[in-house]
Amino acid sequence: MVDNQDLNSSPSSTSTIASPFYNYLQELYERYQCLDDGTVANYIPELALANPQWFGICVVIPKGKFFQAGECQRLFTIQSISKAFIYGMALEDHGRDYVNCKVSVEPTVEEFNSIVLDEKTNRPYNPMVNAGAIATTDLIKGNGATERLKRILHVFRLYTGRDLDINVPVFLSERSTNNRNRAIAYLMLNFGMVTERIEETLDLYFQQCSIMINARDLAVMTATLANGGINPITGERALDERYVQDVLSVMLTCGMYNYSGEWVYRVGIPAKSGVGGGIGAIVPGKLGIGTFSPLLDTRGNSVRGMKVCEDIAQDFGLHLFNVAQPKYNLQDWIEPNEL
Ligand code: GLN
Repeated sequence: MVDNQDLNSSPSSTSTIASPFYNYLQELYERYQCLDDGTVANYIPELALANPQWFGICVVIPKGKFFQAGECQRLFTIQSISKAFIYGMALEDHGRDYVNCKVSVEPTVEEFNSIVLDEKTNRPYNPMVNAGAIATTDLIKGNGATERLKRILHVFRLYTGRDLDINVPVFLSERSTNNRNRAIAYLMLNFGMVTERIEETLDLYFQQCSIMINARDLAVMTATLANGGINPITGERALDERYVQDVLSVMLTCGMYNYSGEWVYRVGIPAKSGVGGGIGAIVPGKLGIGTFSPLLDTRGNSVRGMKVCEDIAQDFGLHLFNVAQPKYNLQDWIEPNEL
């Protein structure tokens, strides 16, 4: 099963705070709920079971307040969104210079699962595509598979503030079908870019992709990055502040795969998507956004999620380079002195 929770999706059943911003998110939800473009991922058989109607939007501000609309409790697998957080762990485990020897930070026009490495250095292009992510997962320290997985789950718990589970059917489904990732891993092994424990690392990669989160968790995770690495709900540090900038930089330039250039142009905030239907986006110092809708475009990005992020960024003037007067003022809408 893709999803093991069927919770009440009514916003009134949550701790959502009534405010103009809450009404705004509700309007966004209603605007895009009927957008049926895209298809659910089916190259991982278990993901094909997702219901195209599922849709949730959650925003968390660094002071820890939630704003949400739609199904924000429904669990889905994190998939490629995990790559951003694993990159952060690899940086903490080895430092920037060493990680940079193993994986570059260049955007690529190739698809996220391309079997391609930089020809001169044999490095994967960036940690946000499969090759780069398998390389960063290889860098996760720990004595054996169990300890490495435990460390990943521990760090993801710091980001979400709650214990997380792996969706075992999704993990096994991908493990038994995704020979493409296996091919990428062995190509990197051939060039000495990853270590011999490659089967263990592949399992770890498939497991990290199968971690179940919901839109609320995702908004807390991104709000943690927006908050300099400290979880705004628990107050615990999830990422060393030295590496927040690195993670956000590659999310900005590479997080939406081969749509990243257009994403920066149109939306202009760091983000990461996954084929489970999630998108996590960050406005440093201001917001963490988590959206969930499993209908994907041909590049593997959630169609509704992209629309939601684009509207929020445009309406509140959150694009990194925006200097124009925004349509709405975030500060007024979230309550004065909350940002
Ligand atoms: N587990 C997926 C894969 O490796 C993740 C891809 C994604 O979310 N884009 O194919």
